[in-house]
Amino acid sequence: MKIAEIFLSAQGEGARMGEPAVFVRLAGCSLRCEFCDTPRAISGGREMTVAGIMREVSRLAPFPGIQVVITGGEPLEQDLAQLVIELSRSGFFLSVETNGLHYQDLAIHWWAVAPKPAAGYRTDPRIRCLAHEVKLVVVPELTVDVVKTLRRQMPRAIFYLQPNAREKNGCRTTGEFFRQCVSDGIRGLRLGLQLHRIYRIP
Ligand code: SF4
Repeated sequence: MKIAEIFLSAQGEGARMGEPAVFVRLAGCSLRCEFCDTPRAISGGREMTVAGIMREVSRLAPFPGIQVVITGGEPLEQDLAQLVIELSRSGFFLSVETNGLHYQDLAIHWWAVAPKPAAGYRTDPRIRCLAHEVKLVVVPELTVDVVKTLRRQMPRAIFYLQPNAREKNGCRTTGEFFRQCVSDGIRGLRLGLQLHRIYRIP
């Protein structure tokens, strides 16, 4: 598998914000989002076997059952089956962060789906049924109608509006858009943050 990095940190976004986690960041993504906050993981990476990844995760895991976040890049562009089987066997709590374009049948505890404007906010219908949370970066393409459509497609998920880290006034723009969406009657929305940027941790 192509791996960009494996590290111990805290989940910086969404409903599990602040939880300690080992991150397995896969390399490679077929999209090119202008606001991508992990451009170093879009391509390249080093080849690692599942056994090698497991050794590194086990070395970094400070206690049994810690959350392992499989992220990227776009992790579902690589076959995760064997890695997920091995991580599950070892008793880790498993999260996946995906743009939602691809589907794999995997035993994952927590699905975080972040649809992207570069893909017209399309997602695989099977991923929609699994999503526990949806993270949307507030950029000009994200309109109230787009949020409404996604909300209809994933009625059970918690929705987070995330500031664009590359925009100077990202938080202000996000706050204003949040008010617009809520005034328009959209339920289940939350304002999001990137905690790791505030704490300056990886
Ligand atoms: S889908 Fe994610 S990893 Fe891929 S380019 Fe967009 S933000 Fe970056």
